[in-house]
Amino acid sequence: MRVVLAAAESLEPRDGDFAFATPGELLGLPTFVCSTREKRATCGCGRAFAGLSSGKGTTFGVVAELDEAAVKAELAESASGAFWPAHGAAHALFWKDLLAMADAVADDMLGTEIRVAVENGTFTILRPGGGPTTTGARPDALNAFLRAALAAEASSDSEDRNLRG
Ligand SMILES: [Zn+2]
Repeated sequence: MRVVLAAAESLEPRDGDFAFATPGELLGLPTFVCSTREKRATCGCGRAFAGLSSGKGTTFGVVAELDEAAVKAELAESASGAFWPAHGAAHALFWKDLLAMADAVADDMLGTEIRVAVENGTFTILRPGGGPTTTGARPDALNAFLRAALAAEASSDSEDRNLRG
């Protein structure tokens, strides 16, 4: 399946680039992005991919082809290190997010460097030299689910922990 991998350096560096993800790791999209375009620009979340394993952001990635089983294994590995209480559901949503990205880069040549613009609920793949863009939708349930997971995690630190057995 089509994937986007982190690269050490950009072929077309831009001011404001950052590359904190581990080169070669699978890239997804940031779990949360800031609420307004201005905040997203300042923060960087609106123009970043997120490393699936490192959880770190990077502003460019490279289109590649990976065996679906390998992608699922890397996703499972990253999810098992996370704290989402309802593990399976989070996993399924992240998988949907990756499939949406795979669709968005389905026609790109392997090795193409791409960038991304992330909004709440959608993302747009930006291509080199001002080439055509492709917009995709993120899973509807992702935002609400992750907020609920974070709230549950916060409350598990409080005294009701013993109610969970
Ligand atoms: Zn942000």
